[in-house]
Amino acid sequence: MTENPYRGRFAPSPTGPLHFGSLVTALASFLEARIRSGTWLVRIEDLDPLREPADAADRILHSLQVHQLISDEPIRFQSRRHAAYHAAIASLISQHKAYRCRCSRKQLLAHGGRHPDHCRTAHLSDSGTPCAIRFALEDERSEWQDELLGPQHQWVRRELDDPVLLRKEGFFAYQLAVVVDDIDQGITDVVRGSDLLGMTAQQQQLFRALGHQPPRWLHIPVILNAAGQKLSKQNQAPALDDTTPAANLTDALQALGQQPPAELRSCTPAEILAWAVRHWRRDAIPRHPHQAPGCLTDRQ
Ligand code: GLU
Repeated sequence: MTENPYRGRFAPSPTGPLHFGSLVTALASFLEARIRSGTWLVRIEDLDPLREPADAADRILHSLQVHQLISDEPIRFQSRRHAAYHAAIASLISQHKAYRCRCSRKQLLAHGGRHPDHCRTAHLSDSGTPCAIRFALEDERSEWQDELLGPQHQWVRRELDDPVLLRKEGFFAYQLAVVVDDIDQGITDVVRGSDLLGMTAQQQQLFRALGHQPPRWLHIPVILNAAGQKLSKQNQAPALDDTTPAANLTDALQALGQQPPAELRSCTPAEILAWAVRHWRRDAIPRHPHQAPGCLTDRQ
């Protein structure tokens, strides 16, 4: 049986500029695609205008370009994909795999933050009043293989609440959009940060509910700041300095365990990426969250 050609992607939510941790993820997914002679895509997951500074997507795309991480196909914006998300929800509701949930925040709190089961079985119809749509998780011990971290498992309903697919306020949720677009773009391999590892089992269920096989998964351990916290927009990770792409890329390769030679720092981004493709070793990637040179803020 012939395998589908490799298609990978980097899918940032534009809630802030690119930081060192996101560069590490983008670089790993780019290199994995290149060594498999695959296609690499960039997708902007702009689903929540209330959390997205107006210039964040442009800044992310500019940073990627400066680092020569350029999408092989036109960039997709999730804000232009609402019709596809509506169609996916309609299909899930018609199969009773998603349901309307009118629970208030207070009701959820009264159930320890978990959603009480009654909406799941009530099959509420569309009354015109805004409500959330949730995915009805199957109760299973999900088992899968992570391409870097090895065998994984999760007790899905025991550990997770039915995820929201459409928020009451009318915004589509990440869980839905990421799966609908991975399906639509024919993604065969997801390479992303290990902070999303816990989302994988429910996303696999969503893939199957939408009639598709899930992709392969590879989770890159997150980069920690000097205080030992995940480098993230929420922790005020500094924006990448776009004037030093060679140093940023070399540091990112170091964070990925690739031991780039010091001379690489004076090469162009294209030369550094060419070196990285020739020398890429997946088994050298650290398995645990760690601090890395580029996450320290003093090199500015
Ligand atoms: N948009 C998500 C984020 O920025 C990542 C999506 C994914 O890679 O699955 O955290």
